[in-house]
Amino acid sequence: MLPGHARAHNRALVLGHLFRTGPSSRADIARSTGLTRVTVSDLVGELVDEGLVADLGVRTENRVGKPATLVGMRTDELAIVALDLTDDAEALGALLTPHGEVLLRRSVPWSGRAGAAAVDLVRELAREVLAAADRRVIGAGIASPGVIDPDGTVVQAPNRGWQDVPLAALLTEALGVPVHVANDADTRALAEFTYGGAAGSGTLVLTIGAGVGAGVVVDGGLLRGTHFAAGEIGHVTVVDATTGEQPYPCACGRYGCLETVLSVPALRRRTAGLDHDSAAAALASAGRLLGLALAPVVSVLDLAEVLLSGPPELLDGPLLAAALDTLRERTMPVIGSGLVVRTGSLGEDVALAGAAVLVLSGQLGVS
Ligand SMILES: [Zn+2]
Repeated sequence: MLPGHARAHNRALVLGHLFRTGPSSRADIARSTGLTRVTVSDLVGELVDEGLVADLGVRTENRVGKPATLVGMRTDELAIVALDLTDDAEALGALLTPHGEVLLRRSVPWSGRAGAAAVDLVRELAREVLAAADRRVIGAGIASPGVIDPDGTVVQAPNRGWQDVPLAALLTEALGVPVHVANDADTRALAEFTYGGAAGSGTLVLTIGAGVGAGVVVDGGLLRGTHFAAGEIGHVTVVDATTGEQPYPCACGRYGCLETVLSVPALRRRTAGLDHDSAAAALASAGRLLGLALAPVVSVLDLAEVLLSGPPELLDGPLLAAALDTLRERTMPVIGSGLVVRTGSLGEDVALAGAAVLVLSGQLGVS
């Protein structure tokens, strides 16, 4: 590791400890990070100078040994601008604390805007949230549909009419704060990992809405893949002549994609007009197809958890149970027996929260 990289790494260790644990003594930080006391004191001094960390005075509770001065991250004085561009009706903006609490919200209807006009709209929304902030903004994070590279260029997002749009660079210049952009399914996975208690060792968060996509966190980091499209499972074929179901045409031009079974419109179509038991059976058959599609993924990545993010009245019941049964049937016991399949623990703000995590990890190295 180069000296500069080592320093950035150590700094992230200190901030990460304070973010997760709260106020701590320098000795506690050294113990938890494995850094020397001298290195910790040096880094804390630098972080205090930057206004990210504050000296909180002497620890007051009863404790053996001599009292120690606590330091803490100034989370109450820091904020993050977060945008969620996944809704086809309106773009959502919010100001969040580093711990993911929403301080204020703004939204603006797309009104059919796409391409450059959609970029303008996003820029104005971000400016509005930034201008309303009553504390220091450390950056802006954006959850966007589409395939997005690590520099925040939208490679393609057909719903917004974007192709090779350097969204992060354009907005960083316009806003004067660092801007990070990622695919919305990826931000949901990051949010569940950072704020929702999902297993960092291996979690797949499947987003079920108008389409189906997934974000994967493995070994504490987001999986990106060769084309930055890791998790794009919506157009994997799950219904064909061998499955005994009628394959439906998909928006991508093919038949029988996972999206034609599991998207919210597909699930509603599947259950429309059915009585309770028949609807449960229809949801269970969708869950079984999901299990078939995920079994090799869960096995290859040795995942601990699969989270379903979408309408609980459709997902949390026969669908989820059938997916878990299928996954257990089709994977080695060492992987499948302890596997957890559940709905996401964060609500509708999960993509916004994940956009905030982009800034935490991009600017502070904390996740
Ligand atoms: Zn498709």
